[in-house]
Order: sequence, then structure tokens, then C-alpha cells
Amino acid sequence: MGELSPIDKFREFLQTKGERLTRERSIIIEEVFAEHEHFDADTLVSRVSSNKSGRRVSRATVYRALKLLEEAGLLRKVARPNGSEVYEHDYGYPQHDHLICSKCGDLIEFTNEVISAIVEKICAENSFIKSGHRLEVYGVCAKCNAPPQRRHRKLDLV
Ligand SMILES: [Zn+2]
Ligand SMILES: [Zn+2]
Repeated sequence: MGELSPIDKFREFLQTKGERLTRERSIIIEEVFAEHEHFDADTLVSRVSSNKSGRRVSRATVYRALKLLEEAGLLRKVARPNGSEVYEHDYGYPQHDHLICSKCGDLIEFTNEVISAIVEKICAENSFIKSGHRLEVYGVCAKCNAPPQRRHRKLDLV
């Protein structure tokens, strides 16, 4: 489980749909898995359009590939309180949950063994076969919560 590289897993998924891993799709997936960070579709469009191969990848191709990557279980979408959505890796990356700031939209990742154990227990009690779980906590992050005066004082000290 989880031994295939993201690109191989995507190729396999595309085959089941009778589709091919095109050069454009390879460029997109390489860019997506270059680093683990949350990103939105438009950011990816601009990252891909300045790719080193110089090959043009259209916006529509990126959007379509994102949809397929999500379907393949390689990416998942996280909705932010302002209605925008970001993507993150859902393959080859440990299960984790999010604290989501409703002011700046920041996503803070955390893992907690107690939460995981509770989820396992609930699934067992319901004879439920889990494929994953998602916990999103909404609120205000420490940065946004800091009163402006305190920030000034900190600056004065420097
Ligand atoms: Zn914030
Ligand atoms: Zn995350």
C-alpha cells in the first residue's frame, strides 16, 4: 500500500479510465508533488505555465488534471471559510487534520493519536470500513488574534 510513486499511481488510474498520461499531465503532476504545501488552482496554473520545459499547458488542462488527481485519490480539496478552496496531497502523506483561520484563511496541520484512536473505535462499533477521515476546526489563528498594540511594543523592543 502506498508504494507506487504519485505519477505511477496516476498513470494506473488513467488507464482504468482509458486515458493517457500526456506530457502536459506529467508536467502538472511533477509540479503538484514538488513540495507539500496547500495551493489553489490559479497558483498552480501560473507555476505550470512557467515550467522549465517551456511547453505550454493551458488553464483548462490544469483544471481537468486537478479533477482527475482528486478522483484518483492523489489530491483532496479543503474549503476555506471565505469560500475559496485549496488542494493538498492525499497520497504518500500522513493522515492529518486542520485548524483553519477564518480571518486569514491559514491552514495549520496537526496529527493527534487520540483523535485517530477515537475514529477507529467509532468505525469498529459501526462495522464501518474507513478509507480516511477529515477534521476541520474553524477559528482565529494566533497571528490574527494578537492585539495590534502588542505587535507595536514588540517592534519598539527591536
Ligand atoms: Zn489568521
Ligand atoms: Zn493539510
